[in-house]
Amino acid sequence: TYSLGPKIANWDKDRKMWLQKNPEFPNFVNGKPRILLVTGSPPNPCDNAIGDHYLLKAIKNKIDYCRIHGIEILYNLAYLEKEMAGYWSKLPLIRRLMLSHPEVEWIWWMDSDALFTDMVFEMPLSKYNRHNLVIHGYPDLLFDQKSWIALNTGSFLFRNCQWFLDLLDAWAPMGPKGPIREEAGKILTAYLKGRPDFEADDQSALIYLLVSQKDKWMPKVFVENSYYLHGYWAGLVDRYEEMIEKYHPGLGDERWPFVTHFVGCKPCGSYGDYPVERCLKSMERAFNFADNQVLDLYGFKHKGLLSPNIKRIRNETDHPLQYVDQLDVRHAKPKHT
Ligand code: UDP
Ligand code: MN
Repeated sequence: TYSLGPKIANWDKDRKMWLQKNPEFPNFVNGKPRILLVTGSPPNPCDNAIGDHYLLKAIKNKIDYCRIHGIEILYNLAYLEKEMAGYWSKLPLIRRLMLSHPEVEWIWWMDSDALFTDMVFEMPLSKYNRHNLVIHGYPDLLFDQKSWIALNTGSFLFRNCQWFLDLLDAWAPMGPKGPIREEAGKILTAYLKGRPDFEADDQSALIYLLVSQKDKWMPKVFVENSYYLHGYWAGLVDRYEEMIEKYHPGLGDERWPFVTHFVGCKPCGSYGDYPVERCLKSMERAFNFADNQVLDLYGFKHKGLLSPNIKRIRNETDHPLQYVDQLDVRHAKPKHT
């Protein structure tokens, strides 16, 4: 079967020794685990030029969140393994990054079409001390229904450890483009509820693995749904005005979603499950909703959730530090409830 590279067996021990020998590259900084957010897009231009514009907005949004929260960020534009093209390309990439960045404790994969919409919320990492993979989903959909949307692989977090290398080895074999991916797609469609007939995708393959080998993997998997590590856009983007009226950033759940993910939109590709106009309009709203939380510190906001243009919301002052203390979200204690 296909493999992502030579079998690595002693990663935890080797990494631990490397960390001891390289104290200038600590995996914890100021008591916080070092996190690398990884995202990317295809090596070539989008089929449609507007798609590239939305990729730019989406990376701008991620850079903002990561700067505010002290998270490192990596953007990939290459295929590391040509067999693993498309959505499977995240597997060889994240394996490579684990091995080349032993100083990173957690890697967080986020799709290009997912936006941060709560700029204040921070993941409750201490909750995951005993887990190696954190993914948004619903246990009942996973184990009772075997639903192909029980988990979402558009935004997930994993620990740099041997356990995750082993998971990647078990996850990858359905990925190679061509007959293997085609045949595997048939197995997945037969096994998973609601899955259309198409080639194997990384999300279905992960669900299949976790359901069919539950005892082996699930003890270290945290299925999170107390906040939107992934939030499906269709139920969220029309409610932003209501959220602004009633709530505030920092909640991360349906009151103020942490992540809004444009599943099925494909603005960079030529086909999608929704009309392009609706997708682009919704992405514009999500981007501006988030960007307003960034611009607030500087005294500006968008003229409306659909407007790329901004307006001033405060007069200039000769006492600027008052606003720094009041409005820099890094000074606000993250509110989880
Ligand atoms: N991706 C990539 N290179 C590709 C195709 C996809 O880096 O050639 C990344 C990109 O971040 C995208 C994610 O993989 O959002 C998932 O890919 P998919 O085609 O499933 O897009 P989505 O379902 O998010 O529309
Ligand atoms: Mn996506």
